[in-house]
Amino acid sequence: MAKGGLPLTTADRPTGRPAVVLDQRLRGTTFVSLTPKRVLNPPSATGMDYWSLNPFVGCEFGCTYCYARYTHRYVVERAHDAGKLTDAEFADYRGPHGWEAFERRIFVKEQVVGALAADLKRVPVGATIVIGTATDPYQPAERRFRITRAVLQHLTRCEGLSFGIITKSPLIARDRDLLVRLQQRNELQVHVSLITADARLARKLEARSPVPAARLRALRKLVDAGVNAGLIVAPVLPGITDDLAHLDTLFAAARAAGARFVHAGALRLYAAVRDRFLPVLGEHFPDLVPRYQRAYARQAGAPREYARALSRRIEKLRRKHGFKNESTMVDRYRPARIPVQGELELRGSLA
Ligand code: SF4
Repeated sequence: MAKGGLPLTTADRPTGRPAVVLDQRLRGTTFVSLTPKRVLNPPSATGMDYWSLNPFVGCEFGCTYCYARYTHRYVVERAHDAGKLTDAEFADYRGPHGWEAFERRIFVKEQVVGALAADLKRVPVGATIVIGTATDPYQPAERRFRITRAVLQHLTRCEGLSFGIITKSPLIARDRDLLVRLQQRNELQVHVSLITADARLARKLEARSPVPAARLRALRKLVDAGVNAGLIVAPVLPGITDDLAHLDTLFAAARAAGARFVHAGALRLYAAVRDRFLPVLGEHFPDLVPRYQRAYARQAGAPREYARALSRRIEKLRRKHGFKNESTMVDRYRPARIPVQGELELRGSLA
């Protein structure tokens, strides 16, 4: 994932009946039914210039830098306000620190196809729809509930649209038959998300995400099937994954996996992310905590000079590894406020 901060809208409002528990895992994850009347978030509601769809609310992968935790809080508060969660359930669905429930109380958008069919009537020809802007559409719940597959099956009826999918999961390779069909009459970009090829580092930062090698194998399967797929490196973490050698390794891995493109962007430290990410940063990279606190003190985006230097580094690596600098729907996202210049510097040489 990786991605912009998206307010949930009418597409995610709990409606109808009390919360229904669909499944529970031994480790404590609970899957709860959500039956929204709408599933496509329009650009006017999110501030993005594309439509978005998220089959789940919450994500078991539990990345420490994930900005989407607040989207879960929104749904829980709406459900409580609507009388669908008792006070005790509300406390449980919020979690003691406000971020745990995002990883362990997953809302599953059942009956998605009916809502999608109705919503598609509002989408103009040529519009872009991105799946997985706030939560991963191929997180473990998808293996059980197959909501994303149902969405793709319906979308294969469309033509003249542009689709994007963002995921960290190799499970997406399961659906390459549908992805191939989808791009026959529409544009499609599949972004396999990977911030590091170092499995041990990934485990520190992403509690339960698939190992990097599995994601790269999935990328290879997609490309071999003819799907327009590439790598998204987001967020690039200042002082941790932004050095030239680290990024070079990722670009080389993307090239070896047959990626059609590589995109990258620096960390955005939204308020909702700080409670989860900064303690982990303190545990594994204590020297970086003061730098992050100062650099992100006044804005969520990375400091302007840092972002520019990172862009130059990414462009240099694109050229080295033979990737074009193509615009994507992910590139079109911009933070609401322009970051001010800060003190972070790229790790390693800028040469
Ligand atoms: S994979 Fe899940 S937890 Fe990780 S950034 Fe994406 S939505 Fe957030």
